[in-house]
Amino acid sequence: MGAAIRQLPGPRSSELLRRQARWESNARTYPRRLPIAIARASGSFVQDLDGNVFIDFLTGAGVLSLGHGHPELVEVVARQLELHAHGLDFPTPAKDAFVQAQLSMLPGTMRDRMKLHFCGPAGANAVDAAIKLCKTATRRGEIVSFQGGFHGSSHMAMALTGLVEQKAPVPNGVPGVHFFPYSYCGRCPMGTGPEHCAINCATYLELALQDPNGGIPLPAALMLELVQGEGGVIPARPEFVQRIARIARQLQIPLIVDEVQTGCGRTGTWFAFEQYGIEPDVIVASKALSGIGMPVAIIIYDERLDCWGPGAHTGTFRGNQLAFAAGAEAVRIVLRDRILDNVRQRGAQIDQRLSRLLSLPWVREVRGMGLMWGVELADPRDGSPAGAVAREVQADCLRRGLIVECGGRDDCVVRLLPPLNVTEEVVDAACSILVAAITAASTDTTAVA
Ligand code: PLP
Repeated sequence: MGAAIRQLPGPRSSELLRRQARWESNARTYPRRLPIAIARASGSFVQDLDGNVFIDFLTGAGVLSLGHGHPELVEVVARQLELHAHGLDFPTPAKDAFVQAQLSMLPGTMRDRMKLHFCGPAGANAVDAAIKLCKTATRRGEIVSFQGGFHGSSHMAMALTGLVEQKAPVPNGVPGVHFFPYSYCGRCPMGTGPEHCAINCATYLELALQDPNGGIPLPAALMLELVQGEGGVIPARPEFVQRIARIARQLQIPLIVDEVQTGCGRTGTWFAFEQYGIEPDVIVASKALSGIGMPVAIIIYDERLDCWGPGAHTGTFRGNQLAFAAGAEAVRIVLRDRILDNVRQRGAQIDQRLSRLLSLPWVREVRGMGLMWGVELADPRDGSPAGAVAREVQADCLRRGLIVECGGRDDCVVRLLPPLNVTEEVVDAACSILVAAITAASTDTTAVA
């Protein structure tokens, strides 16, 4: 499993990468740093056109929660394709089973008061829908988002995203979005650090919203990621989240949790908010809902917000029956195979293996929840994000047979998003590769330049 060091890309991948560069947009991303063309994939593995096999700890950016081509999901999708594939928003047995499966995964206290809306197929579509819903319900126009967060690439979702580099070239962004600090204790936005933490990041928001001179009219929503994924795998502090939820309740501002990446078991519970002891007003979910990569996105929201008139939020691709059939089956498999237990056990295994890296000078933090992990690399001399070193680690991992992603400030966090049913053996092999790559980069003085 993933031992040999390869020359990449191989000749057949090179040819497709060349054709892609000729015909596709300059905005293409993943193959720039992961230069392979994919031939096939199964479970936790991907094979490129040149026959190289990789452990896939990117899994379609967290989409393939039950791995590539889970046989039972393939079977239900194939069956559904013969029966009926696309149904706008008509009721169908597949859709009904999907809705009931999703509601059954909510905490008992929420199940009966939440409603679902099907959005366009991507996470960003559901983020847009959540904002529209809250603006309509509250008749307010401002939104509070948090620094470092990522919510997608549509115009609205990008406006809510912290990534200045992506926003800067697009003039005249969506107005009314206000950024507040997130509890990123490794680089405390209030300058205090974890040892003196009084959750001043949350206090700052509370005071600003209550201050008649604070500059922000009461917002329509607070938009929060509980673990910032693309932002560098930063789990929010529980006290921070609980304070934000309390502020939202006291000021009657709907709290939206963006669980596009953290949802569907990724953090060890079906939704991450369950681990924070809060009940949000709106949940945004997408990526892993079908378990096998069929696109689907939803918002699940408190029925008191259900103020939309007929047709208030439409879209042609809201009726993907293949995704519904797979999603209902994925829930059944998650429960039957105790997948959430596996997420917690494999997460503990990763924690144990990677925490040893903290003795290396370039490793600043190892963070994660469930099967969402990140190793932040920083210059030991001044703590500045070491994106170049992280990118070298990513390239080295690929040569050694492991696909990983980078994220966070300057992409200095090497990120792991394995399938939720990954085995102990595969996690072990992947961690060995990552440890070898980080150790090599950490001792390679050329990386310092
Ligand atoms: N929200 C979060 C937290 C995400 O991580 C992402 C994508 O990575 C999105 C929203 C956007 O999802 P999509 O790329 O499907 O539009």
